[in-house]
Amino acid sequence: MKHVPGRRGGNGGRAGYIHHKGTADTEIGHGGISWIADQAGRHCQLLFSRSARGLPLFVALIFIVCAWQLHAQGEPPTLPSSGRVFDFYARGPYRSDLPRPSDYFGYDTGDFLTTYALYESLLREYQKHADRLRVFAIGKTPEHRTQYLLAVSSPGNLAHLDDIKRQLSDLADPRKLKAGPDLDQIVQNVPIVVWLSYSIHGSESAAFEAGIQVLYQLIASDDAAITAALEHSVVLINPCQNPDGHERFATWYNAHGAGRSEPYAFEHQEPWSITGRLNHNFFDLNRDLISLSQPESQAATRAFLEWHPQVLADHHGQTREYFFPPPAQPINPNLPEENALKWLDTFGKSNAAAFDKQAWPYFVRERFDLFYPGYWDSWSSLHGATGMTYETDGGGPLGYRWRRDDGTILTLRDGIAKHVTASIATVITAAANREARLRDYRDFFESTLSEPKRKFYLVPDQNPDGVADLVTLLRSQGIEVSRSNADIKLLKATDYFGDGPGERTIPARSFIVDAAQPYGRIATALLEPEVPEDSAFVLRQESLRKANEAKGTQEMKQDYEFYDVTAWSLPLAMGVEAYYSDEPSPIGTTQFSSTGLDATGTPGNQNSPGDSAESLIEPGVACTFEPSSTQAMRMAIQLLRQGYRIDTCNDSICAAAADLPRGTFILWDERNPANLRETLTKLARENEVPVQSVRTSFPADGNRGIGSESVFPLKSPKVAVLADDPVGQTSYGLVRYILEKKCAIEVVPVALASLTRDAYDEINVLIFPDGEASRYKKAFDESQLNELRDWVNHGGVLICIGGASEFAADPETKLVPDRIIGSEAKSDTSTADTGQKTDRSGSRKKEGTDRRPFEIPGAIVNAHVNRNNFLTIGYESDTLPLFVEGDIFFQRSETGSNVLTFEGDKLKVSGFFWQGNTEQVLRGSSALIDEPTQGGHVILFSFEPGFRMIWNSTVRLLLNAIVYGPSQGQSTE
Ligand SMILES: [Zn+2]
Repeated sequence: MKHVPGRRGGNGGRAGYIHHKGTADTEIGHGGISWIADQAGRHCQLLFSRSARGLPLFVALIFIVCAWQLHAQGEPPTLPSSGRVFDFYARGPYRSDLPRPSDYFGYDTGDFLTTYALYESLLREYQKHADRLRVFAIGKTPEHRTQYLLAVSSPGNLAHLDDIKRQLSDLADPRKLKAGPDLDQIVQNVPIVVWLSYSIHGSESAAFEAGIQVLYQLIASDDAAITAALEHSVVLINPCQNPDGHERFATWYNAHGAGRSEPYAFEHQEPWSITGRLNHNFFDLNRDLISLSQPESQAATRAFLEWHPQVLADHHGQTREYFFPPPAQPINPNLPEENALKWLDTFGKSNAAAFDKQAWPYFVRERFDLFYPGYWDSWSSLHGATGMTYETDGGGPLGYRWRRDDGTILTLRDGIAKHVTASIATVITAAANREARLRDYRDFFESTLSEPKRKFYLVPDQNPDGVADLVTLLRSQGIEVSRSNADIKLLKATDYFGDGPGERTIPARSFIVDAAQPYGRIATALLEPEVPEDSAFVLRQESLRKANEAKGTQEMKQDYEFYDVTAWSLPLAMGVEAYYSDEPSPIGTTQFSSTGLDATGTPGNQNSPGDSAESLIEPGVACTFEPSSTQAMRMAIQLLRQGYRIDTCNDSICAAAADLPRGTFILWDERNPANLRETLTKLARENEVPVQSVRTSFPADGNRGIGSESVFPLKSPKVAVLADDPVGQTSYGLVRYILEKKCAIEVVPVALASLTRDAYDEINVLIFPDGEASRYKKAFDESQLNELRDWVNHGGVLICIGGASEFAADPETKLVPDRIIGSEAKSDTSTADTGQKTDRSGSRKKEGTDRRPFEIPGAIVNAHVNRNNFLTIGYESDTLPLFVEGDIFFQRSETGSNVLTFEGDKLKVSGFFWQGNTEQVLRGSSALIDEPTQGGHVILFSFEPGFRMIWNSTVRLLLNAIVYGPSQGQSTE
């Protein structure tokens, strides 16, 4: 799929990293000979400090050689700089017992990338001597690194951290602490808590180095401004939100960084396998706060909820110039806008003053919005903090040095200096505004409880596992969930999947989220089916589109202002039956339990075999289990891998007297080892999957029985996933995470060059994750395509996602006859994208198929489910809300199966659609196609199943392709 312009960090979770080369700017650089000497000096110091300390003549020699070398290597002449060099140690006097980072490490700040391991050793040193520091281990990363939270404050405050935490917790809950003298006493005395987070994108090296400097300044400087600020604040430093990504990048860059500023130098091209932006699982952690899928997110949010910070600054890099708030529009409508913007403005202005003093450029109110709740800034804002993103310019893939378009040089050191300056200004401003900010923090929660608020009802009957997952997630977000003990009659309940307000009885044991609770704002932001759009913002995008349409074909188009997706409603994404109502609490008809979940923590599923687990499954001719959950799918895979033989059927069948759904797993005693029932008993208990014993193959009713001719054996899937270029890394990470971590399916990642005949002989499922179609096309040569076609024709199942599907549907690829809507028009940009031949969806054949869709940033669309295809096994409803982004929409297949299609009057459920384009182009198109080949299948997903682990409801489609796909060729259908 295509890159949506302007996404945070320039990547948005897609392949590639956008370098912000930019246009001419006025950044004060280090120019000319003096700068070269400065750089050479610092590099020399690096060499020197590792070998022979204290040899001045040797230093001077190296210095001269380095300077000469850099000069001889053709550094282009640049204008003389102002001569200003940022002094990291200007806030003295400093404590002598705490080593400066540069002394401890042996290199100056910005001259080398500090590894996490080295950082930890400095931290241990500080922990021994610093009286303003407490170190907390808050979690472990996937690569077993410890995650830290550092509390920095005056020794007096540090002695009472538990009291401070308790008081802030009370302040955040007006139900616990009413207005009165106790409240006033807290507001007048308790320190403000400021959370500074660094390097969530591990390759944003300036942020990590800045965190080290900020720690040193706060614990070692006796400057009056610092010590006074620490009397009134507790600063929480999350020194590295993504240690694994940081270490991967730092190790690579330290090995290859030559300090070359040329944009074409190798050190500016982070290899595919490095990409420090992402964590170990290739997830973007700054998109993860909706699903909290990653351990790093879980640890940090847990700590956040424990500490109740009032201010949060998340330090990134990079942009072309420094960014700090106020943010761009839109801001999430669940935020109290006036209160939030007031403080964003206050902190923005204090940063501005500090930057103006240095004559540093910066920008505000552009690009970085506060809309999607899965970033740290918006997530913390929806939890009551003043949440801010700071983006610096130097470092990251720009390395130690980067030559801007105007010839000036941007250094890592520049990027660090700016972050340090912003961090310190933030702490001082927070302390200076302590009482006013705390009062507004309290107001955030009071207004949440006092405003009339919605209630959300989650009904576990149809999807108990989905509801259990959602309830667990909401509680991890700090949200209170209660449970009804009796039926609740509502007069005006709106069904997420159906009709508008109407009478509805919510059954007993349903879960209720009342937005009138302290964290009601984040609860609403995550649960509401549709985020109200900012109408002025929407109008502006439509007028930008009109302006772009009026431009000549070769003229530069303006970017749209969407930063990220525009829809994420969790009940829709997790396939949970849900309702909402604005009716007041139905007192008298129900009671709410205080704790919500029952003792086991797993609501709804009363069919678990847990109790009778120890006794063997009763004897019979076969055992069956239904494919009704991810666990059941996982169990089928485990059995296949251990060599057990499983049959299935694409239709519903009858086992003795029981009707079983399509896709049911059947294990015959006659065809399996004698220990079948023992193994099944054990696995059923572990996976909590109910297993039935069947005593006869004779079906009790007219339906076909388990011995039917339409029953066929499943092949054990041997799955490979394409790795390396041209694959999009977050999509690759997501596929592996879903299969390996969630479903225990073994996967072989394989690079294209290794996808030879030997590999094809072994695998029967191959997954191409999302990636740019043009890169896919470029990567495959004709012989590789031939091998791929050959394998697919001989029974292989090729699963393509997003841009890989576009590649597969390219006429030149000759894999499938399917085509992308507007593909004919894409090469001719003259009129096709104006949408002139539009709104007659009925005559789609000629006009509609040529019509080019506009890229949408990410919306929820109702899809029609074709329940005659194996890919929809386990989906028993006719509709499925899908997350759709980009502009890859398929024409209906005339040869294969259109598994998910967009049909009907109203497609849009939630999010942004282009007027007169998106709905019209989508209608009649396919979102998921199963294209049978001679012996195998090509499965085309236009969307990403399991997107960001928010869209759990679509994971099952991918599992079905893997579990049932390889055996479909043998189906007698
Ligand atoms: Zn970032």
